[in-house]
Amino acid sequence: MAENIQFEVVTPEKAVVNEAVKTVVAPGVLGEFGVLVGHTPFLTAIKTGMVRYIDTAGKENYLFVSGGFAEALPDKLTILAESAEKREDIDIERAKASMRRAESRLAEKESKGHIDRTRAKAALDRAMVRVKVASPRM
Ligand code: ATP
Repeated sequence: MAENIQFEVVTPEKAVVNEAVKTVVAPGVLGEFGVLVGHTPFLTAIKTGMVRYIDTAGKENYLFVSGGFAEALPDKLTILAESAEKREDIDIERAKASMRRAESRLAEKESKGHIDRTRAKAALDRAMVRVKVASPRM
């Protein structure tokens, strides 16, 4: 049996990752899950969070992902995400600006309905996780 899995991360806009890797850890809605070669097939929704994977050179890599699905097969993991970026592609200033926008929306107590608050909370969550993933001390 091959010792690597093919790891693919795709968004509606771009292919973010497509490479052979040793292991992947990703944020499923029911909790973080790890995949390595020979894994039992499964499908799960994913939440906003960090993906870590070890490439064939043994290096650990970090990605931001938000929303979508993951499909694990014995030799392949595919993540179809609403948005995803590699650590080095995250614009920290943009994420911080997004965080400030979301915080001020949440601070406006009046005139904001439930849907706006839910959207602002989700935007704040994305921005906070982007800043975390982009932090080189992770
Ligand atoms: P913003 O308010 O800054 O647009 P957002 O959370 O609403 O942030 P998304 O809807 O998750 O943005 O993503 C829209 C597109 O912008 C995607 O292609 C995503 O990869 C990209 N993107 C969003 N924020 C960043 C960032 N901080 N750095 C790099 N790419 C980003």
